[in-house]
Amino acid sequence: MVGSAIVRQLLAQGHPAQQLIVRTHAELDLTHQAATDQFFASEKPDQVYLAAARVGGIYANDTYPAEFIYSNLMVQANVIQAAFTHGVRKLLFLGSSCVYPRLATQPMAEDALLTGPLEPTNEPYAIAKIAGIKLCESYNRQYGESYGIDYRSVMPTNLYGPGDNYHPEESHVIPGLIRRFYEAKQANAPSVAIWGSGTPRREFLYVDDMAAASIYVMNLPRASYAQNTQSMLSHINIGCGKDITIKELAETIRKVVGYEGDITFDLLKPDGAPRKLINSRRIDSLGWKARVSLEEGLNLTCADFLRNFRRTDISTHQPANNITP
Ligand code: GDP
Repeated sequence: MVGSAIVRQLLAQGHPAQQLIVRTHAELDLTHQAATDQFFASEKPDQVYLAAARVGGIYANDTYPAEFIYSNLMVQANVIQAAFTHGVRKLLFLGSSCVYPRLATQPMAEDALLTGPLEPTNEPYAIAKIAGIKLCESYNRQYGESYGIDYRSVMPTNLYGPGDNYHPEESHVIPGLIRRFYEAKQANAPSVAIWGSGTPRREFLYVDDMAAASIYVMNLPRASYAQNTQSMLSHINIGCGKDITIKELAETIRKVVGYEGDITFDLLKPDGAPRKLINSRRIDSLGWKARVSLEEGLNLTCADFLRNFRRTDISTHQPANNITP
């Protein structure tokens, strides 16, 4: 989802399509070290946006913890090492706001990293993403001067938008609810069940805003990046500065979809972290701001769902091939 948005944004900014090197998961499995190294050896990119990851919502993270930690550690270790080996000087690693402790002071600033226990439902994913930040920092510290490399990290808040995964159980909350409300509307169902209590708060950023922020951070002059970060605290939060409760989110999606039934809460499902608002002061002071409001973004996302996903069979979980017994 984010990689495609970065490509859309680079094309919109006038980058020639032939300068963008992309691979689908089917074409290149980044968990394979030799295949990843071969790709870098033959394509010789000069910049890398590392948006590839095994991602999912609260249920998927909790149900497939081995896949989430293994795939993400392998992808980032292989890509960062191959980038370094083949002379890539500029790389941007995309993390997640779940790297911060479950009960971090809100809004969560970059220096909350590694100050407390993580949210258990996504701890394996968060540990992998923390390792990704530390890979970038460690390569910079060891090779920054000698090889001129500059590997940066951004931590997005919860993202949504076109190209999302609409799986009924494994998706994040926004695509999950868009699908559920549309299906309930079609079936004239009397109510839609929302997981958990509806009280957790989340901050949501439209994916094209995240893509714009990624390109912005990649292209910041080295001195500005260095002035606003430290060598062992180098990541930058990317958010919109506002959060809402899951109940408010469900009501907004119900309105956008035009569903008239009731909303109920399934208390047997987990709430996850009580709140995940990030402090975006670093990126603000570097001169970047989100543009797309939640309502506008939800309208665009619903249009994408209706166009691309409604009739697709997306109900089967496909485990990563390399760890299937
Ligand atoms: P999280 O931010 O890592 O917890 O990711 P999610 O997007 O999966 O969940 C956000 C919140 O929405 C959690 O409190 C969930 O319990 C709640 N939620 C409510 N309904 C749904 C749903 O249908 N799918 C998902 N994934 N979460 C839901």
